[in-house]
Amino acid sequence: MPDVVILATGGTIAGAAATGTQSGYTSGQVTIDAMVNSVPGLTKLANIKGEQISNVGSQDMSFEIMLLLAKRINELAAGKTVSGVVITHGTDTMEETAYFLNLVSKTDMPVVLVGSMRPSTAVSADGPLNLYNAVAVAADPNAKGRGVVLVMNDWIHSAQTLTKVSTTAVQTFMSPIRGLIGTTSYGINDFYRYPDQKFCLTSEFSAEGVTKLPRVDIIYADVDMPADLIDASVERGAKGIVIAGVGNGNMPKAALEACARASKKGVIVVRSTRVATGTVGRNVECNDDELGLIASYNLNPQKSRVLLSVALLKPRTLEELQKIFIEY
Ligand code: GLU
Repeated sequence: MPDVVILATGGTIAGAAATGTQSGYTSGQVTIDAMVNSVPGLTKLANIKGEQISNVGSQDMSFEIMLLLAKRINELAAGKTVSGVVITHGTDTMEETAYFLNLVSKTDMPVVLVGSMRPSTAVSADGPLNLYNAVAVAADPNAKGRGVVLVMNDWIHSAQTLTKVSTTAVQTFMSPIRGLIGTTSYGINDFYRYPDQKFCLTSEFSAEGVTKLPRVDIIYADVDMPADLIDASVERGAKGIVIAGVGNGNMPKAALEACARASKKGVIVVRSTRVATGTVGRNVECNDDELGLIASYNLNPQKSRVLLSVALLKPRTLEELQKIFIEY
């Protein structure tokens, strides 16, 4: 049987409530051993070893914990005895962690994030079957070379495409535009495609020796937004700013002027979008060349922030950064 390591970080999948039907609960209450023991048949899919990395609701996920995960994945990959890794994680910030690990994991073995929308104590808890399917994907040689994926509710998403779309529904993750990597049903996997952008072994980024990431702020655009938030971010020492723009990464004139001021001071400004699907293109409704701005292309604000934080670990020109946003 393949060896699969589960790195547990917390989240609703490890959450518990006093009764099976109450909406209030606390994330990160159940240990990885208890989780593994609660899933019938799991140990028939793979030899499983669990490691508790943290036990937090993913609203408290941090770059510090993400760096620990990256380090552990790279150690396991270098050991060459493990077939795949599963990471249990809260769903709120799963897209940030999945995307970060897709940039800095030096491996082609499957790395599978999994969570649940209902706590372990709920009626119809979704965690156990999600965990079963996640281990089945991590143990599958066919999952190799597909980068970091997320398995929930029978769907296999790439870290590059997935996004959380519902606060409470079990079907909360979608992969708009590019679509799913595959599906899984009671441990039987069906793969459709490989991710088409750079990731893992083709990624130029590394977390080796990194202890802290540069400050990058996200600022949300809307009607009459206060442009001085952008100046304030620069004053507070941000090295990068991501605008969650309206439409195709747009913002009011005053905000655009503040972005150009920030760029002149050497702060990297990325135009992303608050819209759920579609790309943000360069020089569409504003002149990025003149203003010194970057277009986020496929990345939403939270993933843009992760990419920019990692990219700014070393000095890069605006041209290099724009290329990175197109390629990753
Ligand atoms: N806030 C929780 C978390 O992200 C709830 C979301 C979940 O795990 O489903 O950990």
